[in-house]
Amino acid sequence: MNRSGSVGVGKMLTDGGRGVAVGEKVDGGHLVTLIPGDGIGTEVIDAAVLAIEATGARILWERMEAGLKVFQSGDDSGVPQSTRDSIARSGVVFKGPLETPVGYGQKSANVTLRKLFETFGNIRPTRELPGIVTPFSGRGIDLVVVRENLEDLYASIEYMQTPTVAQGLKVISRLGSEKIIRLAFEVARSEGFTTLHCATKSNIMKITEALFKRTFEDVAKEYPDIQAKHIIIDNLAHQLAMRPEQFEVVVTTNLHGDIISDLAAGLVGGLGFAPSVNIGSQVAIFECVHGSAPDIAGQDKANPTAALLTGVMMLRHLGEMERAETLENALLFTLEQQKVRTGDVRSEGRVVGTRAFAEEICANLGKSPVKFARRSSAGKLVVPTLSGPKVGGSETVSRSDVGIDVYVEDSVRTPAELGGLLAECARSNGYRLALISNRGAVVYPPTGAMTDCVDWYRCRFIKLQSDGSAISNESIFALLQSISGVGRWMHVERLLELDGAAAYTKAQGEG
Ligand code: NAP
Repeated sequence: MNRSGSVGVGKMLTDGGRGVAVGEKVDGGHLVTLIPGDGIGTEVIDAAVLAIEATGARILWERMEAGLKVFQSGDDSGVPQSTRDSIARSGVVFKGPLETPVGYGQKSANVTLRKLFETFGNIRPTRELPGIVTPFSGRGIDLVVVRENLEDLYASIEYMQTPTVAQGLKVISRLGSEKIIRLAFEVARSEGFTTLHCATKSNIMKITEALFKRTFEDVAKEYPDIQAKHIIIDNLAHQLAMRPEQFEVVVTTNLHGDIISDLAAGLVGGLGFAPSVNIGSQVAIFECVHGSAPDIAGQDKANPTAALLTGVMMLRHLGEMERAETLENALLFTLEQQKVRTGDVRSEGRVVGTRAFAEEICANLGKSPVKFARRSSAGKLVVPTLSGPKVGGSETVSRSDVGIDVYVEDSVRTPAELGGLLAECARSNGYRLALISNRGAVVYPPTGAMTDCVDWYRCRFIKLQSDGSAISNESIFALLQSISGVGRWMHVERLLELDGAAAYTKAQGEG
């Protein structure tokens, strides 16, 4: 990735005081915000900084905090204002993993950082490395997963609907999809690849994942030099385990990308070898794919290769092409020689600690792998700077409201009893009760399905004699008032038709 092709095309931020443009050299060096992070973060980041500095790159590191210590100090965002200010000044972050409480507590500080700086793209390259023996060695794995970084279930908008039912919103927008898909095409071009796979679950999620797929098909027309293919995400997982060498670039939604890129890392030796960047039009956050690995933290055992490869990506982004190449070559030479290794690597070499491994790389600067053919990144990456979708926007779409879905809590009545009462509410307010579903399956009118009902019913009300105009708020309020007499309602969704087609899903078992 080349700095001139990325941040350069975005808007300039200034720090107010000095008026330094983001990414501009300060005192002859590149200003970079350094966040060592939690667990093994400090160890691998310090090791990588040692090697980056040994290349002669002049970097002014602003060492800042985020993550666990910040949570513990009482700041629930995990990212203090001083860190945010530093990133706004530098535009480039080199960070270690941040620990997130699992299953409770504060929001992930990683996700917060990504969202705060609109780093919408997560680029995760996976390449076979010399001296790292895996069941796939010799296949020439060389692929890049481009993961949407801000939307999907990672919008992390979740609610307990009842004391026993949890719900999360999967948010996919045309703009977010278009940005990441354009970025993926640009990654393919900049890396000299000719094929891009879009991986979705649009066979099941026919609104959200299908929007991503449709956007891919629209954007693909502008990139005739890249072969655009769609693949269902579960088949991608299967194909990656069977014939990973067939893939070059894969673009996918946030959660799929998170999982698939870890799988891809496993194909070339594991998380200790997987670099990444979170990229936006103004800020780039370089980090390893791996987390804080608390089981090996503080023991000088962690493999710093992922951090070193991440450092190589950052040097390219900063325009330090020769130094990036020098560092990458020294790393590949060290891996190929197999004289030393960290404990997670199965090879002949002597096991050394995190720091000693980085020192070996410093000693090998200037050397290149003997047998392994290194593929140079072609260079210039253009980061799209859309502020509204270019393809398939809303301006030409006709829309009409046809009804509402109301979610009702009930743990006492049978679906037939509930249906009888709600049908009456519908009739008296100018609506028709079309169906009730439970966890997505129709339970009223009865279909004979064996659904084990929970206390969370979706009740679909269609407006009678709708003339296509918007349903009045008054009629919705009156219907909700009437439903309140039957049970507690939790939320309401409008049922929209776009260009005459239903813009909502049918229930399972609905005719
Ligand atoms: P993890 O930290 O990536 O560790 C999983 C396992 O992978 C480790 O137990 C270790 O396995 C191995 N491993 C990871 N990195 C390694 C390295 N550099 N060298 C050698 N082995 C390495 O995943 P996790 O245990 O699921 O997550 C722990 C914490 O990290 C969580 O709080 C999570 O939220 C956070 N996390 C942060 C980020 C981020 O900041 N971007 C990303 C992912 C997870 P063995 O020792 O068993 O071989």
